[in-house]
Amino acid sequence: MSEKELTYEYCDQVVRDFEDVVEQPIVSKSSVYYTGVDLGTACVVLAVLDENYKPVAGAYRYADVVRDGMVVDYIGAIKIVRELKQEIEEKLGTELIYGAAAIPPGTDMLDSGAVKNVVQAAGFELTNVLDEPTAANKVLKIQNGAVVDIGGGTTGISILKNGEVIYIADEPTGGTHFSLVVSGAYKMSFQDAELYKREPKNHKELSLVLKPVVEKIASIINQHIEGYDVNEISLVGGTCCLSGIEEVIEKKTGIFTHKPQNPMFVTPLGIALSC
Ligand code: ATP
Repeated sequence: MSEKELTYEYCDQVVRDFEDVVEQPIVSKSSVYYTGVDLGTACVVLAVLDENYKPVAGAYRYADVVRDGMVVDYIGAIKIVRELKQEIEEKLGTELIYGAAAIPPGTDMLDSGAVKNVVQAAGFELTNVLDEPTAANKVLKIQNGAVVDIGGGTTGISILKNGEVIYIADEPTGGTHFSLVVSGAYKMSFQDAELYKREPKNHKELSLVLKPVVEKIASIINQHIEGYDVNEISLVGGTCCLSGIEEVIEKKTGIFTHKPQNPMFVTPLGIALSC
């Protein structure tokens, strides 16, 4: 393992642990539980940690309640968060009290109120609202580098210096575009293309069709990091689940690129760590 990969040991381990507890929660005697609520364009994720900040449970659901970082279906968002909360509470046999949330960087003046209200209306005592890259970096622990969050609607690029976010950008290319390309290439409906794209066994076959979109994202990354001292890129967000995406980005940017086992879970875990 290279020195750079070693710095991601904590991230890789906590994400693997979280994947396990999404399947099989750990019923423990924790005195307190911390829940991270990640309201995304394509997916709502709840990550639950115990008193030692170890993952014990989690749940997620694909949803259409947020667009471009804005809550567009307020009632629907509350319903989903409440249902996921109840689902986990039943499995753990305890009530989840404390919850934190995150918002895309730069949207605090626009939407943090709506996100806060969703988390509170779903039954949580809200303890923190932070921006997504800061949340992700609680898990990644990058000092100097870039966090690239390829989600459903957009790609967020955040540059960190000495562990602090010093530059942010949000570009309107994300997983939805990948699904549109699959839909066009395979003459499928958008919904079918979305499901086909998410299936890991189709990734190898899709890699050629999707390579131009990944390369476009890589050139967007290059434009934003120009002039900054970025010597590592860390990929998060559901679209980075695509097999081999890290190799295309690393080749096109010429910068070491790390991807955890499940990039979709980094931000929700970071939110829970900030609870
Ligand atoms: P945004 O960050 O734009 O608000 P979001 O937070 O909902 O969106 P994520 O949950 O990080 O985004 O990612 C959702 C995207 O990831 C969707 O486009 C989805 O199709 C894609 N995705 C999820 N799982 C996979 C997978 N296994 N393979 C490929 N793409 C995936």
